[in-house]
Formats: sequence, C-alpha cells, structure tokens
Amino acid sequence: MAVSRNALHIALMPGDGIGTEVTEVCVGVLEPLARRHGLGLSFETLRAGAFAYRDTGTAMDEATFARAEKADAILLGAMGWPGIRYPDGTEIAPQLDLRFRLGLYAGLRPIRALPGVPLALADPRAAQIDLVILRESTEGLFAARGRGEIIDDREARDTMVITRATTERLSEFAFNLARRRAARRGRPGVVTLVDKANVFTGFAFMRRVFDEVAQRHPDLVASHHYIDAMALDLIRRPWDFDVLPTENMFGDILSDLGAGLVGGMGFAPSADIGDNHAVFQPSHGTAPDIAGKGLANPTAMLLSAALMLDWLGERGGGQAWSDAAAELEGAVDAAFAGGLRTPDIGGKAGTVETGRAVIDKIGASRT
Ligand code: ATP
Repeated sequence: MAVSRNALHIALMPGDGIGTEVTEVCVGVLEPLARRHGLGLSFETLRAGAFAYRDTGTAMDEATFARAEKADAILLGAMGWPGIRYPDGTEIAPQLDLRFRLGLYAGLRPIRALPGVPLALADPRAAQIDLVILRESTEGLFAARGRGEIIDDREARDTMVITRATTERLSEFAFNLARRRAARRGRPGVVTLVDKANVFTGFAFMRRVFDEVAQRHPDLVASHHYIDAMALDLIRRPWDFDVLPTENMFGDILSDLGAGLVGGMGFAPSADIGDNHAVFQPSHGTAPDIAGKGLANPTAMLLSAALMLDWLGERGGGQAWSDAAAELEGAVDAAFAGGLRTPDIGGKAGTVETGRAVIDKIGASRT
C-alpha cells in the first residue's frame, strides 16, 4: 500500500477506558489541522476491545479487522479492562493481534522532553532527552504469547524467538530512522542495539545480524548495550542516546521507563510500523483509575497522531502531511511551554481543555 491519493482514510479504534476520551479529543485536533493544510482525511470508527468482547463475545471480529487492514493507517486509543478477561485469564488485547497479523515489527517509542513538563531527573541535561526506543513487536519473548506450556504442573516454558528476517528489517529501520533524525537534529546518528548477547544465543545472533546490517550504513554510528547497563544509563545519562532497537520484552519495559523520564505515560506516543501497515497509539493503557472523569492527558495520543501524519507523508502523501505532523508536534510543545499543565503533572487542564489549548497553538503558529 503506497500512499499516493490526497484523501486518506483512517481507521479509528478508540477501544476502552480513556482510549475513547483521548481519541475523541485527537480527532477534534486533527480536523482543523487537516483543513489548514488542505489534507483530505476521512475517519471510520471501528469497535474493538474489552467491552466489545463483553458485549459480543469477540474482541475484534474479522469484518472489523478487514476494515482496519484496508485503511491507510490505524489510529488506536487503548484497549483492555481489568474485570474483562478471556476464559484463560489473559488480557483482552486486540492491539497485540494487530501487531502480529499486520506484521508491525517496528515499534517506535519516542521519548522526548517537552518544554515546561516536569522531568524525573534533576540534572538540567534532562531537558535534552530525545531518543527513540525501537521495540521489535512481532517476535522475541512475545512469540510465546498463547503458546506457553506448563509441564505436569512442575515447570513452565515460554520460548523467545529471534529471526534473521525480522532482525534485518528492524535494524534497517533503525539506521534509516537515525539518518532522518540526524538530518533534522544536525548531529550524527547513533544506533545502539540493546541486548543480552553475553548470556543468550538468541541475542548473540541478533547482535551478529545487526552488525551485518550496520556495515551497510557507514555514515552512522552503530553500537551495543546490554539491557541491564541500559536500565542504568537511561537514568544516568539518557540525553546521550539516539535510536535504541531492542527485543520485544526489553522494549516493552524500557519504554515505560523512558515515559517515566519525561512526565509519565500521558507523554509517551507510539507507532507500530510494518512494511505495508501501521498502527498509531499512545503507549499507555486504558487507565481505569481515571477513566470517565475527563482527566486523561491526551498528549501521547496527539503525538502519536503526529507520527501518523509524518508516516503518511513519508509514504507518498507528500510534504503537506509532514508539515502538518511538524505543526502538531510544535503546537503541543508550544502549549506546554506556554504553561499548559495536565493533572498527571500536577495541573488542572483536563482532556478536552488540553485539546483546545493545542488547537489554539496550531492557529497561532500559522499566522
Ligand atoms: P496496560 O497494562 O494496558 O498498559 P496499565 O493499567 O498497566 O495498563 P495504564 O493504563 O497506562 O497502565 O496506567 C498506568 C498509570 O498511568 C495509571 O495510574 C493511569 O492513571 C496513568 N495514566 C496512563 N495514561 C494516562 C494519561 N493519558 N493521562 C493521565 N494518566 C495516565
């Protein structure tokens, strides 16, 4: 699916809990933004998630999946709910099914300090945090999902899978991303594979394949870090890192750590990208503790939508889409720099008010 038309079709999957609240606000921001940039953008809302499962017995039916698959991009809120589970006790998570079924191997998790948002680290260099965790999202330890075994109630096994094909694609993606970022940021791109190659055969293999791909990108710096050392260094000196490709489970954990560095889950966007499809969603869950109260911070959702516009632009949508992406990101930054404070960082601006503050900045930056 190469994007070439002017009018692009977005499958909206609001999901459950605060997913529905941040999705609504996000559409409210995207519509005026699209008008300003002359972007043809149409939305189709699709129902999937824990409450869909409760009401219909299916978390995401095949017709819904087919609609999502046909769309130019999928914009997803959040899915899952504590009291609603599959009979075996596992979570309702159709977003994971989308990753596997659509082959969305590159899980982009940007971690960036926004101006004015309080940071976890006191070191002033924390204001320069701007890195991307690139979480492989189709294999690794998550390949065991639904396939783990318990042997005679004595032991349990979950098998990690690392393939050459996916590691090559992930590594290529990482280097290309670092090259784009380097051009934008005016500094050399550095790709750091995060692994545990000193202990596991799978990670030693992953490192070998990554090193092979690195040979094809001599203009970029390639390095490695063990996962335990990275957990330490993401606290000690996160401002030193750029693009961090890693295995699925490691990426899952590190992206929450990264979100904690820059204000919490409400500030952590994500994109799950494959060769033909992509899903954009905030890194956070459905936050049952604040759902229905209008308190959710929609920033992660808005920044995920900016990633979507940028991806659509890159895939042939054209410069207007990339410009709209940059403007949306800039408007979010400007709103927080101007004093916007959401409840998760001790402020009072609720979901709708935050959306309005961002729309105001979009207008301001276009005058
Ligand atoms: P999951 O397992 O699906 O990630 P979770 O319950 O572990 O779900 P979240 O739903 O992300 O994790 O919530 C973790 C905490 O962060 C909760 O206290 C929640 O209220 C808070 N939180 C998450 N997202 C937001 C947001 N957008 N705005 C404000 N607080 C949020």
